[in-house]
Amino acid sequence: MPTTETRTVLVGLSRAQLREWVVATLGEPAYRGTQLAQWIYAKAVTEFSAMTDLPAALRTRLNECALVSPNAISATQRSKDGTVKCLLRLADGNEVECVLLPYDDRVSVCLSTQVGCAMGCRFCATAQGGYTRNLTAGEIVDQLLHLQRLSERRITHVVLMGMGEPLLNLENALDALRLMHDELGIGYRRMTVSTVGIVPKIYALAAQNLPITLAVSLHAPDDETRAKIMPVNRKWGVDVLIQAARDYFEATKRRITFEYLLLRGVNDTPEHAQQLAAKLRGVPCLVNLIPFNYVPTPDGFQRPEAARVRRFRAILEAAGIETTQRVERGHDIDAACGQLRGKHLGKPIPQVVQVRG
Ligand code: SF4
Repeated sequence: MPTTETRTVLVGLSRAQLREWVVATLGEPAYRGTQLAQWIYAKAVTEFSAMTDLPAALRTRLNECALVSPNAISATQRSKDGTVKCLLRLADGNEVECVLLPYDDRVSVCLSTQVGCAMGCRFCATAQGGYTRNLTAGEIVDQLLHLQRLSERRITHVVLMGMGEPLLNLENALDALRLMHDELGIGYRRMTVSTVGIVPKIYALAAQNLPITLAVSLHAPDDETRAKIMPVNRKWGVDVLIQAARDYFEATKRRITFEYLLLRGVNDTPEHAQQLAAKLRGVPCLVNLIPFNYVPTPDGFQRPEAARVRRFRAILEAAGIETTQRVERGHDIDAACGQLRGKHLGKPIPQVVQVRG
């Protein structure tokens, strides 16, 4: 059980664990654990003093021996379009980013699963700092709880697409999603897990039998192009990855989202679009095109002109592949993942932009 100083950290514990803990540690009846779970998750309350249906003496004891969360927001940026980006400082001083995205019909959050990332995608800010550690389930769900306190409306959708590769921290990510499902009532159909393509873990996620949407960062239709921008492709190539996505659909019946970052002259030609259409033929999927949001990068990546994006999209659509273009949000803040953290650490803002995590 995680502790800070000498106090037990409660965020991240399931209702069953909280029930056991109140019995074993405090000698209280198990239903007090259920009450705690409701306060911590559904009501997003952090102060025991505000948990008004607990007896005063119990609240005092809780203050002495426990803590809801040791994590705190250390920086916030608000965009005119309603996007709120936060940096969460963890108990060990590490920081991760999380984003609140209010839309007319839903409120979505984008959460991190690791401090840093080992995957080394060439277009990504987080990749620059390398990998530090996995987040715990409590640290993942706590990002959502902090964002909920900043939102007037209930959070309805969760995307694991912040810093880190979620499938390399699958157990904790699943524990966090389970907590969000069980305690916050967020359906698995409203959850998306994004991956650069850790193929064995795609099968491990499929084996959970949960209707979670899988978003695959494909970004190129052939191994040569993809390996240049995503080192992971040297381990699992395009064909193996697309087959895993097909199998994920067969297991879950959830349509796959393929993310495709368009980099001018790298992966945005009509030939690339035709190749992509051929590779995805028969895969129940949606392709989400993301024109690169220009910032200087070591590779000198450029955003394609609008006409190139339109042509790419038209080729996919002519082949019967449903295609969308990502609505870019938070343009007036450091909307790219990794940028706020870099700034806050006093380092220069990274010269690359992250499009997914
Ligand atoms: S894009 Fe995602 S997987 Fe790739 S390096 Fe960045 S955080 Fe890691």
